[in-house]
Amino acid sequence: MSTPAGSPAVLTCKAAVAWGPGEPLLLEEVQVDPPRAMEIRIKVVCSSLCRSDLSQWESKALPSLFPRIFGHEASGIVESVGEGVSEFEVGDHVLTVFIGECKSCKHCVSGKSNMCQKLGLERKGLMHFDKKTRFSIKGKSVYHYCAVSSFSEYAVVHSGCAVKISKSAPMERICLLSCGVAAGKAFLCFISRHAWNLLVSLRSLRSTAVTHPLINERNTNLSMGL
Ligand SMILES: [Zn+2]
Ligand SMILES: [Zn+2]
Repeated sequence: MSTPAGSPAVLTCKAAVAWGPGEPLLLEEVQVDPPRAMEIRIKVVCSSLCRSDLSQWESKALPSLFPRIFGHEASGIVESVGEGVSEFEVGDHVLTVFIGECKSCKHCVSGKSNMCQKLGLERKGLMHFDKKTRFSIKGKSVYHYCAVSSFSEYAVVHSGCAVKISKSAPMERICLLSCGVAAGKAFLCFISRHAWNLLVSLRSLRSTAVTHPLINERNTNLSMGL
């Protein structure tokens, strides 16, 4: 990998590039642009492989989004920061986040949702704000995945799509928090909340079932154990 003197500047590094849907990933030299306003460029230390990466790599629905660099769960170290970034500095350890937080949209300020309207799930292989890529190979644009693309030695992400972590945290394990563990925990919370709602509904069903013979019949079965 070569890094020009002075930072930030375009750098060249290795990345696993998919040239088409389902085609083998090839280790290529890619150019990585410097971070633009409110972005950071990170040296990727560890990246996980998620089922979502495989699904999108296999999918033939969007062949125009190739060549592409997949990967959306990663831990890394901030290599450079763009204009206006105040939360991060060079050397910070971070996790990437593929659904970011702008801290100003309706959802971000609600305290009830993480479905950011500005830094939500990016599906077009581009960066959120300028709709361009930060990767290229000899001038040819290489598309992102989830505005992260961690199957690369370096990646540019929006500062709202990263969180600072302790420098003592083990990079190889904590990168799983970037998607897998967080998604699994959220799923369990979702299931437990809905299981509770179902329980409440069934209890309410039992209390009203006497008015309807059909429900009453079901209630006989459902009431056991409630
Ligand atoms: Zn994932
Ligand atoms: Zn937001």
